[in-house]
Amino acid sequence: MTQGINTVAEHRATRINQSKLPEEIAFLSELASNFYWSWNASATTLFRDISPTIWEEIEQNPSELLRRISELRLRQVAIDEDFIARLKTVEAEYRSYMAEPIQTFEGITKENPVAYFCAEYGVHNSLPIYSGGLGILSGDHLKSSSDLNVPLIAVGLLYRYGYFRQKIAHDGWQEERYLDVFDQERALFPVVDGNGDRVLIEVELNHTTVVVQAWLARIGRISLYLLDTNIEDNSPDDRLITGHLYGGDRETRILQEKVLGIGGVKFLRELKQTPSVFHLNEGHSAFLTLELTKEAISLEPNLSFEEAAAKVRQKCVFTTHTPVAAGNDEFAMELIDEYFSDKFLDALKISRNDFHALGRTNPEDTSEWFGMTPLAIRMARKANGVSKKHGDVSRELWHKMFPEVESAEAVPITHITNGVHPSTWVAPALAKIFRKHIGNDWIAKSRTKDSWESAVNSIPAKELWQVHGELKGLLIAFIRERTKRRLTGQENTINEHKDTSGLLDPNALTIGFARRVAAYKRWDLIMHDLDRLLRMINDKEHPVQFVFAGKAHPQDRTAKQILQSLMKINHDSNWQNRAVFIEDYDQEIARYMVHGVDVWMNVPRRPLEASGTSGQKVAMNGGLNFSVLDGWWIEGFNGTNGFAIGGEDDASAETDQIDEEDANSLYEMLEETIIREFYDRFDSGIPEKWVERMKNSIATLTNQFSSDRMVADYFKQIYEAK
Ligand SMILES: *Cc1c(COP(=O)(O)O)cnc(C)c1O
Repeated sequence: MTQGINTVAEHRATRINQSKLPEEIAFLSELASNFYWSWNASATTLFRDISPTIWEEIEQNPSELLRRISELRLRQVAIDEDFIARLKTVEAEYRSYMAEPIQTFEGITKENPVAYFCAEYGVHNSLPIYSGGLGILSGDHLKSSSDLNVPLIAVGLLYRYGYFRQKIAHDGWQEERYLDVFDQERALFPVVDGNGDRVLIEVELNHTTVVVQAWLARIGRISLYLLDTNIEDNSPDDRLITGHLYGGDRETRILQEKVLGIGGVKFLRELKQTPSVFHLNEGHSAFLTLELTKEAISLEPNLSFEEAAAKVRQKCVFTTHTPVAAGNDEFAMELIDEYFSDKFLDALKISRNDFHALGRTNPEDTSEWFGMTPLAIRMARKANGVSKKHGDVSRELWHKMFPEVESAEAVPITHITNGVHPSTWVAPALAKIFRKHIGNDWIAKSRTKDSWESAVNSIPAKELWQVHGELKGLLIAFIRERTKRRLTGQENTINEHKDTSGLLDPNALTIGFARRVAAYKRWDLIMHDLDRLLRMINDKEHPVQFVFAGKAHPQDRTAKQILQSLMKINHDSNWQNRAVFIEDYDQEIARYMVHGVDVWMNVPRRPLEASGTSGQKVAMNGGLNFSVLDGWWIEGFNGTNGFAIGGEDDASAETDQIDEEDANSLYEMLEETIIREFYDRFDSGIPEKWVERMKNSIATLTNQFSSDRMVADYFKQIYEAK
């Protein structure tokens, strides 16, 4: 990583004074400063309509749009009556949204909110500090918290170079590059004190300290503080601590987690924040429990470590997100010793041995590394997994930490099933149908199961099918655009076609598959019997086509090899017009895909998918899930709202045998049910049985897998101390 590092001062010098906006449209600047615009379709289209070309070029970033746009264009929109009227409506909605009084809960108020900690946030693609599922989930958690108007603030890291951008070379090998987040204007605001000076805190590393500043991102009514070490006072290495998301070595990772956990608590204190609950969303932030313990002892010097820790535990809750080993951070004790000084441990009144034991599943086993999940489980009053099944799996997995508990069922780990934010993920064109047939308050209605189900059933099949066709048309147009040879001709990637106008068929059954490339996600399952697959693809009357996207972790060579071997099929001419891999999966691509596919396929090796959320986005849009019964789909599938692959049993037989069985089940379901139902057009000209399933999907899955339901559950079952 050889990028030079620009200083914040240099960045701020490039900040354009937005006072150049004519008065009539001055509100655009405020609107751009709050990610509220990203889940309000009228606000989004206002920005887009200022300049659709620039909008697409800059990845839908309103702040950058306002910097780039010409004065001439601004003056044009300022006298466009239609535009002004739309702007006024959005402004009125925004003002009343922001003015609503906040809810309070038992012990949780505006003065003592929940402090939500996460290593990544996927709010919108114009804030590129997320890698995948965890980030999208935390972004949706903040948006629903805003909509429900609950007392919550959030802490994360500002990765100067974000997550990598993906390119697939001609030979199928994934290449990574990083872009400077501040190459564009961003809706990020320096956190300053009453005198306008940056609020700074220090985090002790070992022999040195690093200075940390923060940026504020406004997510509707929620404040998200993003910590950043890229300050001149810090050494060049330390400035890069918050450089790359999941990009560095173990040493960078431990430093990032110290900045997030310890720096996060210190920062909130500097802002005079007194949270009643600290939510460790994933173990990355678990060091925050140590800082809280240190605080408790400095307030009451008579407390022992155990007494102080018991107080801290009353304030902390923890969510585990994966049973996959690589997703549970661990550090070698040498690394822990290097970055936790004697002075720090003295202040905690804990011996080094006892400190090591905090991070082990078995405190006595000196061969174990220091795990962030064991630390979090020990230091939190509540722990939960992210689906019913994942609750079971987590209780089994961490049973070893509770030797006094006899059966795994009694292990104190519960579950809250993940959900997604409907106004972010439901396509605007479909939301229009919801408004027409369900009402302008369709979001509010979606929060009550029964009224939502009957309301959805009143949508005429014909209208639903038509809007789905339009969304599929958009997806295909987007793909044709994305895979065309770039004008520079220098791209040198798999997607360099001169003419993409024949790519994919808007009438063909379209199956989407987008997720991280990792062995357990079984990207190659669909290729298990290539001849059988090609027969389906090449069927003249009832063809099937595929849209793929996904990134391999930059340090995961196995995953990159999986991706490369999959790319070989790209050279098969039969395959070429019927399947496409879109590079650089992100939220923008995800939106097009979940809006427009007919079927969403998911084939993880059971029981390794903790929840999964992309299928939930598809379900709300009327796409049909075609998935292994793992994670959320076990709870969601009811026989009529999608399709299941294989059985419910976890892998007990040889994996090869399970893969074989699942592949067969997948082909059979495709050939005998999915393709038939999709192409079975009735006298009405529409596939009535299929549309019935689409309606069932929207009716039965939207309420249950909405992040509004999820956040409400967190408040009732996890945050409120009972
Ligand atoms: C929703 C989403 C995910 C999560 O996908 P799952 O594989 O279902 O966990 C990942 N990346 C992006 C860009 C998403 O929008």
